[in-house]
Amino acid sequence: MSIRTRFAPSPTGYMHIGNLRTALYAYLVAKKDPEGVFILRIEDTDQGRLVEGATDIIYDTMKSCGLKHDEGPDVGGDFGPYVQSERMASGMYHDYAVKLIHRGGAHYCFCDEEKIAAERAAAGESFKYDDPCKMLSVEECEKRIAAGEKYVIRQTIPTEGTTSFNDEVFGTITVENSTLDEQVLLKSDGFPTYNFANVIDDHLMGITDVVRGMEYLSSTPKYNLIYEAYGWDIPRYIHCPPVMKDEHSKLSKRNGDASFQDLVAKGYLPEAILNYIALLGWAPEEDREIYTLDELVQAFNVKRIGTSGAIFDPEKLTWLNGMWLRGMDLDTYYNLIKPYIDEAVKLDCDKKKIAEIVQPRANTLNEIPGMLTFFDEFPEFTTDLYNHKKMKSNPEVALVSLKACRETLAAQEDWSMEALHEVLMAVPKQIEKKNGQVLFPLRLAITGLGTTPGGAIEIAYILGKEETLRRLDRSIAQLESELG
Ligand code: GLU
Repeated sequence: MSIRTRFAPSPTGYMHIGNLRTALYAYLVAKKDPEGVFILRIEDTDQGRLVEGATDIIYDTMKSCGLKHDEGPDVGGDFGPYVQSERMASGMYHDYAVKLIHRGGAHYCFCDEEKIAAERAAAGESFKYDDPCKMLSVEECEKRIAAGEKYVIRQTIPTEGTTSFNDEVFGTITVENSTLDEQVLLKSDGFPTYNFANVIDDHLMGITDVVRGMEYLSSTPKYNLIYEAYGWDIPRYIHCPPVMKDEHSKLSKRNGDASFQDLVAKGYLPEAILNYIALLGWAPEEDREIYTLDELVQAFNVKRIGTSGAIFDPEKLTWLNGMWLRGMDLDTYYNLIKPYIDEAVKLDCDKKKIAEIVQPRANTLNEIPGMLTFFDEFPEFTTDLYNHKKMKSNPEVALVSLKACRETLAAQEDWSMEALHEVLMAVPKQIEKKNGQVLFPLRLAITGLGTTPGGAIEIAYILGKEETLRRLDRSIAQLESELG
């Protein structure tokens, strides 16, 4: 039997990082099997949480991450509908709940739970739901329902014994049945709760491996009792530890932590985000950190998912994003960052060369424009910036070097990179100085900045002859007036 997994997000309007990691793990578990099927199911029956356009965000995120689902609302499949509210329409959850009643796994309940809770609280008793309706016969209940009485359907839990199951990450878990509450399966409005719908949907969709957050771990014994009452196979469980903001709190959009969309807007690549979150809670066998999605499929192993929450480290993500950016071939990189270059540089110049000098330095896309402002604006600077110990540079040395560069460049017709490289690399020898004593002051003199992407020759080439000489003249004049 081939593996079938599902990602079952609720459309909340953003893609939480922890949810995306669950989606990734569910995808990897399915794709490890060459015949494996990855399913997208939209869980939208919590009407109070519905957000306009929220499903599109789910589709867009999956697409930009390359997490292609084989079945889902937009691509179809043999086990649809894949949107929970559409599954409701047939009355199927209701029918299954009634079937469960007849199999002894559930019962009708007519109590006003809130009222009982309030009464107990008033009497100083803690609220533990022990449903008196359990005593009613099904026939009696059906009569009351026919007479128009409101009801919910609750799970019936054995009062004795234990329930055990195996989780691939957390191992064997055993709970006393007496500790499990008789949760509502079908609400009075006819909507199933998550607690019920997840079992029905996973069964009907043939899910073999349930991958989800560990917040569902403690409820899983209850779900297993439902599977057992129907006589259905229990899936393999892979509960994932949470993604943490720090040691104490989970990463959460509600607390202002970045969602996937926020990270993309901050200049992170979907590939790098996916690569990073794969490593949050899962440890590859080899000592390696850069993985494409296909490489993750090869390397992934549920046995190496840890049980403790992994802390989301923005700095590590930034580093990894930089590795991804530097690993691209120049054409791909240039196409990607062109809008960022265009935003910062209006000068008509070789922008692909700008991409080339930025590539070794930028870790995120958003920092790129800020690195390039000097192309359009030549900032004022103080001449003490010419002092550089390692380069053996100081204002006096700089003046000699800049004058020699000025002369060479003024005479230069061919402004290609190759030609500029040849003539500028000859200057140090001509004036008996070290390379750094010429190229360091030159770069400063034409950019006004102590550090820039690229070196003097590349920047002179990009600026063009006229602008390079104009900047050089201003810098030489400044030095001359200060040195007297
Ligand atoms: N809709 C649930 C959630 O977003 C899905 C949990 C599950 O994967 O079963 O948390």
